[in-house]
Amino acid sequence: MKALLSVSDKSGLLDLARGLHALGVQLISTGGTARLLAQDGLPVTEVAELTGFPEMLDGRVKTLHPTVHGGLLARRERPEHMAALQAQGIGTIDILVVNLYPFEATVAQAGCTLDEAIENIDIGGPAMVRSAAKNWRDVAVLTDASQYPLLLSELQDGGLSERTRLQLAVAAFNRISHYDGAISDYLSALDLSAGVPSGAAVPPRLLFPGQSNGRFVKLQDLRYGENPHQQAAYYRDLDPAPGSLVTGTQLQGKELSYNNLADADAAWECVKSFDVPACVIVKHANPCGVAVGASAQQAYEKAFQTDPTSAFGGIIAFNRVLDGAAAQAVSKQFVEVLIAPDFTPEALAVFKSKANVRLLKIALPALAQTDASDWARGRNAIDIKRVGSGLLLQTADNFELQRSDLKTVTALQPTPTQLDDLLFAWKVAKYVKSNAIVFCRDGMTLGVGAGQMSRLDSARIAGVKAAHAGLSLQGSVVASDAFFPFRDGLDAVAEAGARCIIQPGGSMRDQEVIDAANERGLAMVFTGVRHFRH
Ligand code: 5GP
Repeated sequence: MKALLSVSDKSGLLDLARGLHALGVQLISTGGTARLLAQDGLPVTEVAELTGFPEMLDGRVKTLHPTVHGGLLARRERPEHMAALQAQGIGTIDILVVNLYPFEATVAQAGCTLDEAIENIDIGGPAMVRSAAKNWRDVAVLTDASQYPLLLSELQDGGLSERTRLQLAVAAFNRISHYDGAISDYLSALDLSAGVPSGAAVPPRLLFPGQSNGRFVKLQDLRYGENPHQQAAYYRDLDPAPGSLVTGTQLQGKELSYNNLADADAAWECVKSFDVPACVIVKHANPCGVAVGASAQQAYEKAFQTDPTSAFGGIIAFNRVLDGAAAQAVSKQFVEVLIAPDFTPEALAVFKSKANVRLLKIALPALAQTDASDWARGRNAIDIKRVGSGLLLQTADNFELQRSDLKTVTALQPTPTQLDDLLFAWKVAKYVKSNAIVFCRDGMTLGVGAGQMSRLDSARIAGVKAAHAGLSLQGSVVASDAFFPFRDGLDAVAEAGARCIIQPGGSMRDQEVIDAANERGLAMVFTGVRHFRH
């Protein structure tokens, strides 16, 4: 068996090569990689020796040769392919290990010139990767050091499975697509208005390199879109964040619809933001009941109280395993989709007779405890929105408010209990369409005003909804997703019964609003950050 190794990023290389050598695999390699292997005392054949052609043009041409591509592309089961190799004295290559010139890292550096970028476009690497990936039935292709241990362990167990070879080929084509996307994005974004930039530094103008190039994989066609006359499909990011909606598994129920998925995402993202047991009920993309409690059941019962009318046919998400007791409680209402990290057998038994209810199991991101990055915590890095024939991209609203970020601006300080409720209300408000006004008390929503063009109307609606549900707002806290531009909004929430307010601040009339709060004996904190959601 022969392996061709040609890597820019040499991490993990020696362990891999030693492992391959120990298994009797012959090593072939390009200049820099071969040197490293030889220094380690490993027997290695240089590609130049194999092809009888030296590496040339500063490495631009190293492996672009029939000896290499013939060895990678020949179908072992076709006698005419094997005869053609033999006639030319070409041997087969069974394993290809390549990682590419670091184009993405190069252009991400401030001061990168156009020429440096161009020099870092790998030619022979992607060509070999394509050859090997196309011939996955006969060749294993590795494009990332994280795949090395799998290769060695499967070889030790007698050889690579067909499934692994195909998975490696898929990963290889994905890598090439990323790579070409990054090159295309970089070059397309060059500012040529003053001529071709030569020598001078080309500032990295891309905030989202490689993000706009259709790096999505289709999961399924949907029956229809937001409305029955619209067509729709469901795609996932090539590399989805762990614990995001697309990583879930549907355990039972009717096919998920476009609106189900959109609402499920809103519910799941909101419920994931709580550390304690929580329940979120969503209708038409807005939470209509959110609560935390000692258990999933308690959280649900509190959340349901907020707006039992709207909760009908809702999407309900939990951040804890759904047990029998919580399932019994939920089963009393009409529910479209139920989401939880897992379902106990008792919970599954409850929904067995309700075959239409869609149960969606999504593991919470396992890395959230150890890795603070947005991705590891299961959050999208980028939001995308279509506008006409354009796209709007932005970093996702992943800001997490800490207690220490809060600034009390009134004479009166919130009590510790009020502070807990303020932070709870703020988390919920982030997931309510703007203008958002959210009244809360004791870890549950009391009234949610969503999606109004005027903040005052949102406040009024929240009050009306609480009254409908028979909930009193007296002594509640309230969150506003953006600042109050005038004191009228504050007057409205105060008259509804709120005693404590959380809002970003930053209005020209902050002082007028603060004076109004002091006048009414309210406590108010500023977050300094707003959460518009459209
Ligand atoms: P080495 O450090 O072994 O000299 O070079 C390894 C790098 O060269 C890898 O990133 C590999 O993708 C790349 N490479 C291999 N063959 C060719 C080729 O023919 N042309 C170019 N431009 N790059 C190649």
